[in-house]
Amino acid sequence: SEEKALNFIEQIIEEDIKNGLSQQKLRFRFPPEPNGYLHIGHASSIALNFGLGIDYQAPVNLRFDDTNPAKEEQEFVDAIKRDVQWLGYQWAHECYASDYFQQLYDWAVEFIKKGKAYVDSQTSEEMAIQKGTPTTPGVDSPYRNRSVEENLDLFERMKNGEFPEGSHILRAKIDMKSTNMLMRDPIMYRILHKHHHRTGNDWKIYPMYDWAHGESDYLEEISHSFCTLEFLPHRELYDWFLDQIYDDKKVRPKQREFARRNLSHTVVSKRKLLKLVEDKHVNGWDDPRMSTVSGLRRRGYTPASIRNFANTIGIAKRDNLIDVSVLEFCIREDLNKTAPRVMAVLDPVKLVITNYPEGKEEWLDAENNQEDESAGFRKVPFSRELYIEREDFLEEATGKFFRLTLGKEVRLKNAYIIKGESVVKDAAGNITEIHVTYDTDSLSGSGTEASQRKVSGTLHWVSIAHAIEAEVRLYDRLFTDESPDTHKGKDFLEFVNPNSLQVITGYLEPSLKDAKNEDKFQFQRLGYFTVDKDSTSEKLVFNRTVALKDTWEE
Ligand code: ATP
Ligand code: MG
Ligand code: MG
Repeated sequence: SEEKALNFIEQIIEEDIKNGLSQQKLRFRFPPEPNGYLHIGHASSIALNFGLGIDYQAPVNLRFDDTNPAKEEQEFVDAIKRDVQWLGYQWAHECYASDYFQQLYDWAVEFIKKGKAYVDSQTSEEMAIQKGTPTTPGVDSPYRNRSVEENLDLFERMKNGEFPEGSHILRAKIDMKSTNMLMRDPIMYRILHKHHHRTGNDWKIYPMYDWAHGESDYLEEISHSFCTLEFLPHRELYDWFLDQIYDDKKVRPKQREFARRNLSHTVVSKRKLLKLVEDKHVNGWDDPRMSTVSGLRRRGYTPASIRNFANTIGIAKRDNLIDVSVLEFCIREDLNKTAPRVMAVLDPVKLVITNYPEGKEEWLDAENNQEDESAGFRKVPFSRELYIEREDFLEEATGKFFRLTLGKEVRLKNAYIIKGESVVKDAAGNITEIHVTYDTDSLSGSGTEASQRKVSGTLHWVSIAHAIEAEVRLYDRLFTDESPDTHKGKDFLEFVNPNSLQVITGYLEPSLKDAKNEDKFQFQRLGYFTVDKDSTSEKLVFNRTVALKDTWEE
């Protein structure tokens, strides 16, 4: 197999192995907070962590960072599990930070006993002032030197629910003069009288992310804890917390950072995606316009295309914007290989073949996928009256219009060569029918001389009598701006594209009548389409996944 250059994350791991870390001790985790659905940015982190797991044959845990009961829900846990599995990854253990609440509490008690933590009873405003600024040192809290006994008593009563929210917190006693603001006696616990989706009402205090995360890594024996760059300044605190409990019987976890992935013309932030859902700019988390994994899935993206995307863009040390066309390239590439070709007309105009017998029908052979020989052939019905796309006809055309005009010939895909003869118009001058004649000997694949004639242009079509009507949903970018959430003084919602969804009626060849949810097709010359979950046996609903860049030639 080809040797790929190691990325900087792999280099870190290789370096650790070289320095004596056994490969058997490698263990990774993907740590979502269950406060929303996974998005394409998470897919990068998933592909990174689970990809390392595959490459090093190391376990990867799915860890729910469920330390904030105000925002977390079981619905999100379920959706995250579904999405990770759908992407094709399997975790070693399903873990929850909340499983460690008792252990974390016990450690916090130890901290108090060792003079490493204290209960602060000031208001958050008072504490904010004392915190100082990046260029001025902080000031010690008047409660910083509370006795161990008093701290233990207060902390236990915090846990027992004796105090209202905001009245006390537990802080680590580190250094109010540290140049790293996060080291200025950070909060370990706050009081929250909230119901937790797993621990119910057992707890009245909840650990902060910084306190819970590294210790969860430690308990699960995670060797490398990869997170996004905004956590770089947290690393010192991550290490400080570990220093207090580390007993070198287990692997000491190592936090390392990589850049967040942003995608153009969308937002990748659960909070902002939630806003889009709440304000009804979209129809739920899995709306096909969303950058969520479930939205992309419903849009027609395949797991392979998303994995491919993540691997193509790789990981980086600096934040940058990936153009959505890279993602679209990945799905086209996948569906080009796998999606059966079918014919559908989305903007129909009636075509009458005047020399084709009335009432006659033929079932013609159509190749399912020229990229995949094993895909075989199907039959499509042909008759005197067809639909073609309105834009495939011009009465007169100059230059390179390789479609139908009066007096010129084109081929109907899988069928005959036709020649434009005349048009019928309504009172307003709109074309209502195109009349053509066909070359009776020109059937595709029949081997006749006429069938091999070269004409410039091949059109897709459907037989009107046989076509099935379907609802077709055409999507455009959800935002008109490439980075809607980076404009100072402007809310990202100001850039929502008001025309991101267009619903039309399409006419499909009858082979599609039994298409099932998530089935994927190439509507020839139009793009890739997938069956939406709103589809019923009475009414098919298709989503356009992505338009075709290139049209085929025959
Ligand atoms: P959000 O702002 O969308 O809530 P988050 O980082 O708070 O993002 P988490 O659930 O904490 O969301 O993320 C789980 C993991 O996925 C973390 O390790 C996080 O760093 C990573 N991650 C989140 N967003 C991205 C992104 N855009 N690119 C790469 N990794 C990401
Ligand atoms: Mg987070
Ligand atoms: Mg977040």
